[in-house]
Amino acid sequence: MEEEKAKFDRESAVSMVEELRKSFSKGKTRSYEWRIEQIKMLHKLVEEHESDIIEALHKDLSKPELESFMSEISMTKATCKLVLKELKHWMKPEKAKTSLTTYPSSAEIVSEPLGVVLIISAWNYPFLLSLDPVIGAIAAGNAVVLKPSEVAPATSSLLERFIAEYLDSSAIRVVEGAVPETTVLLEQRWDKIFYTGNGKVGRIVMAAAAKHLTPVVLELGGKSPVVIDSNVNLDVTAKRIVSGKWSCNDGQACVAADYIITTKSFAPKVVDALKSTLEKFFGEDPLQSKDLSRIVNSNHFTRLTKLLDEDKVSDKIVHGGQRDEKCLYIAPTILLDVPQDSLIMNEEIFGPLLPIITVDKVEESFDLISSKSKPLAAYLFTKDKKLEKEFVKTISAGGLLINDTVLHLALPSIPFGGVGESGMGSYHGKFSFNAFSHKKPVLYRSFGGEASARYPPYTPQKKRLLKALLNGDIIGLILALIGWPRT
Ligand code: NAD
Repeated sequence: MEEEKAKFDRESAVSMVEELRKSFSKGKTRSYEWRIEQIKMLHKLVEEHESDIIEALHKDLSKPELESFMSEISMTKATCKLVLKELKHWMKPEKAKTSLTTYPSSAEIVSEPLGVVLIISAWNYPFLLSLDPVIGAIAAGNAVVLKPSEVAPATSSLLERFIAEYLDSSAIRVVEGAVPETTVLLEQRWDKIFYTGNGKVGRIVMAAAAKHLTPVVLELGGKSPVVIDSNVNLDVTAKRIVSGKWSCNDGQACVAADYIITTKSFAPKVVDALKSTLEKFFGEDPLQSKDLSRIVNSNHFTRLTKLLDEDKVSDKIVHGGQRDEKCLYIAPTILLDVPQDSLIMNEEIFGPLLPIITVDKVEESFDLISSKSKPLAAYLFTKDKKLEKEFVKTISAGGLLINDTVLHLALPSIPFGGVGESGMGSYHGKFSFNAFSHKKPVLYRSFGGEASARYPPYTPQKKRLLKALLNGDIIGLILALIGWPRT
């Protein structure tokens, strides 16, 4: 029989943070060797337990094996490998320019770990969204507490078990739990809180952090639009939208296409292309497909069916709409011309429903997007370079992607994060290391190079010299130095 887990209460939280703080203060987490050892062990954990991870993700979300491998396992391993390759370079102080004002001097920016950090993750990619920021925090030399999502319990418990087994528990811990445990954790003083999830809880996290003046990264969501111009390769467009929506956790992804905007005249072609691609990918009866994840739980199932069953929306379904409550499946569903004031157009969908909005001219879509909260991602499909340029100039979103969906988050050389309602701060690649570091500037001077002009008493000559120096007036400076014209 499984041992009953000890209750995680306020007392446990206080003593855990104290212990971690001690490890951090002793400098344990700061050395390059410790960081590398932990990342190597994390990589080993993933390699040795690939099938356990796949099984846990299947229990939590019925995630197809290949999807789990591509979007959770291999991405976590890729982050480990990147850190192992680049960490020495990232940890090196960066040289900075100096100026005439500080002459003679040199300057650098030192990346310093912040201390003890808290990572709270979400259920939809419960393995990757937990470990990706943990890797960044360890790489930057911090002690870490991870609170995985209780909504994906099998993955949460796997993380607790294996992290305790593989990593240094004097500096890295996992706390399982739901709202009460997270609330107790949020009462503690952290040096950074990294939260992934919805904006409502994001506000709770930020309010708790404010009490201790703790900085936060909030990785939130939003309604990510896809604009489809008529000047496209429609077959490729449909494949890339269908795979970025339904093959990514059945639409339960923060960067999944939330709604499409296209022109009235092109919309029927878009609907046909999406329908035939869906059939190619998931067969005639998608509820039988093994290549679709299911809805995470009955709460989310009910939330999604409520969006679909709203009076003004239910007659707009042009494809799909079937559901099986017992198995938590909703078929990939396309809706055409849903009203702007419907629930589905005012909430993040986060599931297998995809409404299409139509406009007279494709350019009108830009105003429509800008009239809503800033999304986490915005997509444009077009061959028109002028339209592409206008989109990049006009649309504010966490990230933009032209002629594809979702793929931008797989590129470690660009930051991933939201703006406005979709979040603050960013991570991935070196941006994760930066998110958990303080960039400490250091200016080095010697005892030479004394300039008496900076010290009182301020004579007219000194004033003239300092003014010329601070105004960047080189000729004035030379003249002041040689004392010409004589007064
Ligand atoms: P969730 O229910 O797993 O909640 C996220 C975390 O918040 C969990 O660990 C949970 O325990 C904690 N939590 C919940 N209620 C709380 C409370 N009252 N006080 C303190 N902690 C609490 O996940 P979710 O919010 O349903 O996730 C979906 C949302 O997350 C969507 O909006 C999605 O777009 C967004 N998301 C964003 C990203 C990103 O990288 N930007 C990734 C995934 C999901």
